[in-house]
Amino acid sequence: MSDDRTGDDGAAVVAAVEAVAERIEEERDHLTQLDSAIGDADHGGNMARGWAEAADAARDLDDPDAETVAKTVGKTLMGEVGGASGPLFGGSLVFAAGELDEGITSETAVAFAETYLEKVEDRGDARVGDQTMVDALTPAVHTFKKSIEVDDLDPIEALAKAVDAAERGVAFTVPIRARKGRASYLGWRSVGHQDPGATSTLFILEELLAVAAERLGVDVPEAAATSPTIPDEDPDEAGDDPAADPGDD
Ligand code: ADP
Ligand code: MG
Repeated sequence: MSDDRTGDDGAAVVAAVEAVAERIEEERDHLTQLDSAIGDADHGGNMARGWAEAADAARDLDDPDAETVAKTVGKTLMGEVGGASGPLFGGSLVFAAGELDEGITSETAVAFAETYLEKVEDRGDARVGDQTMVDALTPAVHTFKKSIEVDDLDPIEALAKAVDAAERGVAFTVPIRARKGRASYLGWRSVGHQDPGATSTLFILEELLAVAAERLGVDVPEAAATSPTIPDEDPDEAGDDPAADPGDD
C-alpha cells in the first residue's frame, strides 16, 4: 500500500487477483458441492472461469493503477461469471473501484469496502440473515472499518479481523433459512447448508490478506487463524469481580 496513484498499488491488485484466481480454482469442487446442495451446482465453475479470465485481463494491462485493475476485474467478472453472483461480485467491484482513484491507503480501503457492500445490497436486496454472501461481507466490512477508524489498527491487523468476521459469517449461514437467490426456493430445506457465495467471499478475503501481508513483509496475524470471540478466561478465576464468587454471605 502506498499513497501514489500508479505502480506498486496496481501491481499489488494484480497479484491479489492472481492469488484469488488460483484459490478459487483450488476450491472449485468445494464451491460446486455447496451450490449443488441448495442451488444449481454452477458456483464453482462460474467463479473459477470468471476469476481466471479476470487474472488474464489484469495481467494484460500496461502498468495500471489500482482503480484500473479493480475496474477491469469487475467488468470481466460481470461478463464471465453469470448467475446471480456475477453481477453482484462484478458490478459492485466496478463501482467500488472508483474509491481507489488515489491509490490504496487504509482510508481508501475502508471507502472501497463500504461502497462494495452498499452496491451488493442495492443490487441483490439481501441483508444479514438471508443466507447469502452478505452474511460474510457485512461483518467483514464493519469489522474492517471499526478496526481502522476506532481501534486504530494497522491495515493488516484490520484485514485479519475482517477475515475472522467473515469466517463467523459463513458459519452463521448454516443454521438459517435462505431468503434470497436460488436457495430460497427450497424454503426450510435450505436450513443446515453453508452458502456458496458467502464461502467464496471468505476465500477472496483470505487471499487479499495473504497478498497484502506478503507485499508489506509482515506475518498474517494469529487472529486470522482462530476465532477469538469468546474469552477463555474462567469467570470463577476472574479476580476482583464480586459476581464471580458469591461467597457465604
Ligand atoms: P445462481 O444462484 O444464479 O446459480 P451462483 O451459483 O453463481 O448463482 O451464486 C449463488 C450465490 O449468490 C449464493 O450462494 C448467494 O451467496 C449469492 N446470492 C444469490 N442471490 C443473492 C442476492 N439477492 N443477494 C446477495 N447474494 C445473492
Ligand atoms: Mg448456482
